[in-house]
Amino acid sequence: MEAIKTLVRHAYENVPYYRKLFRSIDLRPADISSANDLRKIPILTKEVVQKNYRDFIGTKNIARVHRTTGTSGKPLYIFYDMRDFDGYLIAKASALLKKFVGITKNDRIVNTFAYGLVQAGLEYDLAASKTGAMVIPTGTGLMAGHGKTLDAIVEFRPTALFATPSYALRLGEIVEDSKLSSRKMKIERAMITGEPLTEAARERIEEIWGAEVYNVWGMTEIGAGAGECSEHSGLHVMSDYIIPEVFRDGATCQDGEGELIVTTVGRYSMPLIRYNTRDIVKLSTKKCACGSGYPRVTFCGVRSDNMLKIKGSPVYPVQIEQALYEIPQIGDYRIVLKSGKYGDYIAVEAETRKEVSDIKKIKTDAEDGVAKKCGVKVNVKILKPGSLKKPDEWKTQKFFDLRRRSV
Ligand SMILES: [Zn+2]
Repeated sequence: MEAIKTLVRHAYENVPYYRKLFRSIDLRPADISSANDLRKIPILTKEVVQKNYRDFIGTKNIARVHRTTGTSGKPLYIFYDMRDFDGYLIAKASALLKKFVGITKNDRIVNTFAYGLVQAGLEYDLAASKTGAMVIPTGTGLMAGHGKTLDAIVEFRPTALFATPSYALRLGEIVEDSKLSSRKMKIERAMITGEPLTEAARERIEEIWGAEVYNVWGMTEIGAGAGECSEHSGLHVMSDYIIPEVFRDGATCQDGEGELIVTTVGRYSMPLIRYNTRDIVKLSTKKCACGSGYPRVTFCGVRSDNMLKIKGSPVYPVQIEQALYEIPQIGDYRIVLKSGKYGDYIAVEAETRKEVSDIKKIKTDAEDGVAKKCGVKVNVKILKPGSLKKPDEWKTQKFFDLRRRSV
């Protein structure tokens, strides 16, 4: 509770955005002394931070800046002074890796996250180093080149892989294309973050690498946020650093389903109070079988801002992925949203993992699978292996909105 009071007092005294906000709603730091009282502060949206990011800076000596990875819209910049960078961002990610993902000083980790303005590469690199593990900082294929990444894997036999789901699958293909066996690389655990992880993608990564997958959730705005333990039943929220709430129908609660709202505690250079992540989750405070009392979130795999409305039905790209990956022959895919004579429609292109003879059957299975999961009919075009362009960045854009815009 002391941490909340300190946060609110600091926000009022040193953060221009909060000072203005508190005054406009006639709220004083003394009015807030518990997590429940935080609800007196309105929920914060990404758009507000994007527009006013300089007004969220709460300390002098800003030492680092990172930005959100989104390619569309305005960038969102996040600032840290060294105290927060080390004592908040890196300490939090390190505690998560140690406590839940099970990283120890005996691990050798190949870190394929992007380094640079993207925060994840450096964040997980330093966080893993702090546990005493050895880090092989290859970055993405774009940065190191696949040859060097492969050389490093063969040379150092990493025990853990840090990757996005799409890059873990891509790297598996690259290893297999070099006539090596990804399973023989003996990677024990894959820490997966940066994109929503469907159950079908998890199974695929486990099958390709023979590794146990640990799903981790985070966002540039707050860094690593929650991670799976060996029970794999929800992700433990790093509640020493983040206060979670769920928001639904205008109210919030500590247990239940809705949009995940987070408050950073112990971070002063850019505190975010009641930030709406837009991820739809189930939050539970029930003790986990691993013994940890840290609250857990289960991601429903959807975000409130990426729903597509197709002929009146809500459709999420992750549902399409789940349907496609349930067909073992299907590999990489792209989803394109287009506008047609009778409204918007989805077209899917999917390549097979190996040369196949029964393309017609795979096509029918894929279209039926998507129709069953999403309730809409889509056309799935089956392509030969390697037909889709692979950008080799840490995240692969799989969804394209090519609808005609009226001007
Ligand atoms: Zn647990």
